[in-house]
Amino acid sequence: MTLTEARKQLMELQSKLSAYYHAVGSIHYDGVTGAPRGTAKNRAHSMTILTGELYKLNTSPETRAMLEYLDEHKAELSQAEQRMVHLLLKGLRKTEKIPMDFFMEHRRMIIEASDAWRRAKETSDFAIFKPYLQRVFDDCVKLAEICEPGMDPFDYWLNDSEEGLNSAKCDAFFAAVKEKVVPLARAISEKPQVDDSIINGYFPEYKQRQVSSVIMDMMGIDKDRCGIATTEHPFTTSLGSQNDVRITTHYYENTFSPAMYSVMHEGGHGLYFMYPAEEYAYTVLDGGCSMSLHESQSRFYENYVGRSRGFIKNVFPKLAEIFPENFEGKTPEDLYRAVNKVEPGLIRIRADEVTYTLHILVRYEIERRMLAGEVKIGEVPELWNAMYKDYLGVTVPNDTMGCLQDSHWGSGQVGYFPTYSLGTAYGAQFLKKMKETLDVDRLLDEGDLAPISAWNREHIWQYGRLYEPEELLEKVFEGPFDPTCFTDYLEKKYKDIYGL
Ligand SMILES: [Zn+2]
Repeated sequence: MTLTEARKQLMELQSKLSAYYHAVGSIHYDGVTGAPRGTAKNRAHSMTILTGELYKLNTSPETRAMLEYLDEHKAELSQAEQRMVHLLLKGLRKTEKIPMDFFMEHRRMIIEASDAWRRAKETSDFAIFKPYLQRVFDDCVKLAEICEPGMDPFDYWLNDSEEGLNSAKCDAFFAAVKEKVVPLARAISEKPQVDDSIINGYFPEYKQRQVSSVIMDMMGIDKDRCGIATTEHPFTTSLGSQNDVRITTHYYENTFSPAMYSVMHEGGHGLYFMYPAEEYAYTVLDGGCSMSLHESQSRFYENYVGRSRGFIKNVFPKLAEIFPENFEGKTPEDLYRAVNKVEPGLIRIRADEVTYTLHILVRYEIERRMLAGEVKIGEVPELWNAMYKDYLGVTVPNDTMGCLQDSHWGSGQVGYFPTYSLGTAYGAQFLKKMKETLDVDRLLDEGDLAPISAWNREHIWQYGRLYEPEELLEKVFEGPFDPTCFTDYLEKKYKDIYGL
């Protein structure tokens, strides 16, 4: 093999992988958006075959020979090529430890689990989901043992979501945030509650679809490359490459703000998916650096942009035009206060910025205890409800509003939840950094998001997966991660709103 041949094969392999991921992603996307009810088994059939082909492609003797050859000639490769080889070899070494039958059966099971979760949530019947949840966690323990024998399974899955993450780091981060957030939430609860009548009423779905379109335009999202659909649980995916991104939202007709903020959240993911350097398309460097980095961008647009006074001032007239009756006699300040109302609630994706971390903590603790075998699957609903009472002071009326609310476990995603909180805190530090060179408040006030997105593109998006998460963070922060950027942001903002 010559270096030229190996380089050519490296690009061909990634191109082929992208095509498979395109097919797998499209099947999944179809399953959660438009596919008829009884089709999960059909998708599972195709997915099992495609997953098997992917397994073979990733671990074939030809792939191994080519990657090992390139690894030996690392010094002659570009930085991007070195990273491609590193990521592919790491994936190969991990995948080949998993027996192919187990690997394929796991993927097949996840499709059925995801469908069972949806049915269980719709009917608030945990019993439908219970056997699948059992299998998801059993498989997670088994996969951790296969891939990293001797490592704590919880640490394995945290590290799987975010290279370098473990429970010790999460514990330290959560302790730092809790120390500030719990007293802040308590002080707010003693103040008179803000009037949020502007976001409550009747908001027909067809009008909310107009809001989604307006928001995508305000965020500068290219609709030729980014579509939007409706799902039970909002998410974002890219199909094959940065050239085809899909976001989703969920509409509730008694309030418009959850759908609007889902679009901003998923739109943030969407922008990150769409703007790695163009030459990374159809390679493993396309996409985001890590889950937390991805959440830093989604939470950035959802909260630091979307819940700012400036953005509210600019979106208000557009909303008032769509919902004239609901907005009659209201002011932008009414909307600003309503969307920043702090109130412990039941639903994570509708949580305010102050109490959000507490929702994550519930999931974090439950996952840790389930993977350690301390909690039986049948005890999950009861434990969930008890922890919501303890952490947030709310009573969970049913499992749809409780442990069935998130799609993650049904999709086999364990160890993911902390990345939401970490990402939110990274976002606060990005904002602080951005303010050193940009007058962010003035730009938000003028409704000019382009320079803000250009900053994110220059410092974060363009690199795709070129760096490891900690490397990229240090490069952008020019120093260590500092959770006080997030807690300072919360204290400043909410002391102002609640007059503390
Ligand atoms: Zn997200």
